[in-house]
Amino acid sequence: MQSDPNIFTQGWAPPLESNDATAAVEWLLKFAASHRASDIHLQMESKACRVQLRLDGVLTQIGTLPDEAAKLILGRVKYLAKLKTYVESLPQDGRIAGGDVGLASDVRVSTYPAVTGEKLVMRLFYEGDQLAFDQLGFPPEVQNVLENQLGIRSGMILLTGPAGSGKTTTIYALLQRLLDKDPCHIITVEDPVERVLSGIMQTEIDLERGLTFAKALKHLLRQDPQVLVIGEIRDEETAAMALRASMTGHLVIATLHAGSCRGVVERLNALTDDPNLVAGQIRLILNQRLVRRVCSDCSSKGCQKCLGSGLKGRVPYLEMLQLSKLDHESMELKNLAKLEPSFSFEQSRKYLLSEMLTKETEINRHTA
Ligand SMILES: [Zn+2]
Repeated sequence: MQSDPNIFTQGWAPPLESNDATAAVEWLLKFAASHRASDIHLQMESKACRVQLRLDGVLTQIGTLPDEAAKLILGRVKYLAKLKTYVESLPQDGRIAGGDVGLASDVRVSTYPAVTGEKLVMRLFYEGDQLAFDQLGFPPEVQNVLENQLGIRSGMILLTGPAGSGKTTTIYALLQRLLDKDPCHIITVEDPVERVLSGIMQTEIDLERGLTFAKALKHLLRQDPQVLVIGEIRDEETAAMALRASMTGHLVIATLHAGSCRGVVERLNALTDDPNLVAGQIRLILNQRLVRRVCSDCSSKGCQKCLGSGLKGRVPYLEMLQLSKLDHESMELKNLAKLEPSFSFEQSRKYLLSEMLTKETEINRHTA
């Protein structure tokens, strides 16, 4: 199962011999779910169908299906998702009810006609796998700083990082921690709500109905929150609302698009045109990525649970900037070059490698 894994011919075979598509689809979904795959990709190619799982963000080939079996499986998936089974030349979107295939959550299905044949992607969702704050894999010093900052009911904690870098998971874990320590009124505005947390008022923006982040915030501030989570500060209006909330006794936790901790300050300055105000409100910035974690079942040797990769789950690789008085002064003077992370990517790398949480090659994928 190393270089060219093909689980369909290695004794893990699903019920294919009998051409039982019903059983085969269920088997495939359960196999993917047992490995916590986020997506299953089925790509028709000449005389075969390539099967891949997205595991911890990485597309991993698990095998190829013979043409005949693949056609039956694709047909069955489309039938379950209430798509037109005879249509192969147009994209279609649908949903399989979890209960129909023995899963706890629904499966989103989309098809697209590629040049080699139909491409079908199934997206899986999982309930109840939100990690607790101390399970995220943050270095102890970062964890301590975050924990302390959570106790202050004003100012801003900002997170940045590319899509899929775990920002939402971090925010949810922080909120859970906050609720455990000190039950308070937390309101979120998200796009969309990714996981429902009990004890928190979660809301979604709805651009089609004109409910933007800024508009939602304006109304939600009247709901008397103590902690306000803003899915993303992406325009001037939202930035202004966020700063106003943080100045008036709310802890604001938000994400913002930027390439570095310093970039977050630059971006917020650009959106507000008021460096003094920004300097006065930001307390902490986290810039994170996710790297694949060494499999805890085999310590990177490769086992069935990690499909031979030696890696399972993910862990944050990050830089953090806790703003000091001196940093605030530099920001007011627009001397941003002076801002240095209080915990750098280099320190993060050392921590991850010394604790054997990941491999050097995994970190290098993010630094190239
Ligand atoms: Zn393993």
